[in-house]
Amino acid sequence: MFEQDFQIENPLIWKTKAEVVNDIDAAGCADLIQHTVSCQHTWTQTNEHPHCGSCFQCVGRRFATLASGCAQHDPAPKYRNELLTGSRQKGTERTLVESYYRTAAEMGQLNDSAFFARYGEVSRALTSTVLKHLSGTADATASKLLDLHRRHSRQVVAVLRNGLQMHAAAVLAGTLPDSCLITLAVPDKYRTPKTSIAPMSKMDAIEQHDHRPKSQYSGGDDTIYRETLTLCRNLDAFQVWTDSELLSRLRPHLQTNPAMRGRSENALRLCFRRIRRHHGFELSRLLKKNSQD
Ligand SMILES: [Zn+2]
Repeated sequence: MFEQDFQIENPLIWKTKAEVVNDIDAAGCADLIQHTVSCQHTWTQTNEHPHCGSCFQCVGRRFATLASGCAQHDPAPKYRNELLTGSRQKGTERTLVESYYRTAAEMGQLNDSAFFARYGEVSRALTSTVLKHLSGTADATASKLLDLHRRHSRQVVAVLRNGLQMHAAAVLAGTLPDSCLITLAVPDKYRTPKTSIAPMSKMDAIEQHDHRPKSQYSGGDDTIYRETLTLCRNLDAFQVWTDSELLSRLRPHLQTNPAMRGRSENALRLCFRRIRRHHGFELSRLLKKNSQD
């Protein structure tokens, strides 16, 4: 088609999104950022909120503008859902933002070989087909890829760190939504029922008023019970949610939580039944009607 060979250059290929925003700022064009939109949820866009703040593109964009220090050119009110403190609906919306952060944070913790073992798809860029389009050997390219991902990790983690500092008072006062990213990013070990979810007295009250026979209820069941309350962040989880609703909340953690790993959903349903019987938990009548699932 073309008489002469030509090359396509992508000067941004080795830059994170935050670094691209920095380049835009350095070129004196930061004021243009507020006029751009990346949102996938075009059906929710309004002049007031051009960014939904919940889709992958919006989450990535907001992390980038916050990490680059260009937040003043990307006004928070333009986001329907604020990245760090906005509450997230259960399901995809919550999982997306939590996994975006956790994946980035985890990347920064892995050593070289663990990184390539964990993200095997990265090695596709090291095949001869791809390498001929990149200047550099496989080793040099692998090193650049690693560095790119680690910088992304540092930038994302820095956004959370700054957010935690900025909202420290709200964190201590417990006024942030349970489902906002700052709350979701706190490591699970700080969210055991006895220390952070509920006053000790409520947990004790549940146990002290339980005089039912404990024959079938094992230590393993008790661990699942406590982990479920922790992961769901709701002391009344077994009274207000059906088994399916509990499972949908636990599903993102089933492979990573040591107490649940390897248990089938059916086994967990049986466990839930023992937990309800042991603690004398009853679903409300309305929920019971809907729980025949
Ligand atoms: Zn969006």
